[in-house]
Amino acid sequence: MPALILKPGREKSLLRRHPWIFSGAIQHGDKDIGLGETVDLLSSNQQFLARASYSPNSQIRARVWTFEDEPVDKEFLRKRIRAAIAGRSPLLKGEGLGVRSNSYRLIYAESDNIPGLIVDRYGEVLVLQSLTAGSEFWKETLADLLLEETGLSTIYERSDADVRELEGLEPKIGILRGALSSFIFPITEHNLKFNVNLESGHKTGFYLDQRENRRRVREFAKDKDVLDCFSYTGGFTANALAGGAKSVLSIDSSAEALALAKENIALNDLSIEKTNFLEGDVFQLLRKFRDENRSFDMIILDPPKFAPTAAQAEKAARGYKDINLLAFKLLRSGGVLVTFSCSGGVDAALFQKIIAGAALDAGVEAQIVEHLSQASDHPVSLYFPEGAYLKGLICYKAA
Ligand code: SAH
Repeated sequence: MPALILKPGREKSLLRRHPWIFSGAIQHGDKDIGLGETVDLLSSNQQFLARASYSPNSQIRARVWTFEDEPVDKEFLRKRIRAAIAGRSPLLKGEGLGVRSNSYRLIYAESDNIPGLIVDRYGEVLVLQSLTAGSEFWKETLADLLLEETGLSTIYERSDADVRELEGLEPKIGILRGALSSFIFPITEHNLKFNVNLESGHKTGFYLDQRENRRRVREFAKDKDVLDCFSYTGGFTANALAGGAKSVLSIDSSAEALALAKENIALNDLSIEKTNFLEGDVFQLLRKFRDENRSFDMIILDPPKFAPTAAQAEKAARGYKDINLLAFKLLRSGGVLVTFSCSGGVDAALFQKIIAGAALDAGVEAQIVEHLSQASDHPVSLYFPEGAYLKGLICYKAA
């Protein structure tokens, strides 16, 4: 087995079971280790620490498969996939996820001890995203295992996330197993239908992580004039309407997303006449609305990732503060702000501070009535806190 020998003291994170080894922690590595090959991680005094996948092009040079001295092979990966599936099954029982949606995350990479592999289940179709050299090395085996362990027959690959570049991997999109009659795939969530574009939608097609938060929006929306910023394909918009909103204005910069959002409203028994869709930049439009003295009872802010890592946190903080400050101004007294950050580089405590700063500068009195996070099919390993990325707050502006 090829090996990487760590610098003295750099085994500490592995002893806490964190799965990443950065290039700077490595003292010496065997030559000619291939992309994604399995390597042993040894301490400076040659003690076995873990077995990992090798990423020669990435700062994250190795990701742990196992802390045991055991073979990493098809049967090893089968155990990991079984464990991930077993972890979802309690969520699917009773009043759980199973009755709320036919689509959920089946495998969430490091959080499920399968670094680099994301698998989302949309009805009978699996959408696979391979993000690292290690998951790419084992991709065909993983695909076979996924079919064997789920009994399904179709896997569509959406390995086109930017992070692949850091691993020296080209984007890949296409059928991996089975066949698809259409790239537009219908799913149900909380008794609403959504068409998901598996081929060109964001991530694997739909923001499954916001499932429970969409339901909360539905519960808060009755009789409200709602502004859904960064609406994508209308997840929050449809739920606000289903919850009895008086009107919903949805803004996104993507014409394609808005077209699908309109289609999604029409798919359901919802009042399309209460909706308005605006293609544009949220930062600019919120300013314009402020200048026009417009106001809303409920504002949803679900922007894209401003800070993938902590290094961009400061710039991201300015972006979050800007839109939240404007939203507090546009909210009527007694109004509700539902605000999110999916930036890994901004943690929940920092996000709350940013929102407090926004309220202060907007000159409003507001309270947090609920803390939100990613849905439970996107679990967070206690050893890998980086798996927690989505945080949200429901705030009341004082009446
Ligand atoms: N709330 C959505 C997901 C939002 S994803 C859901 O639950 O499904 C973020 C969205 O922001 C994307 O659709 C993207 O097109 C849009 N976007 C990114 N930058 C934008 C900007 N400056 N103004 C408006 N929309 C933007």
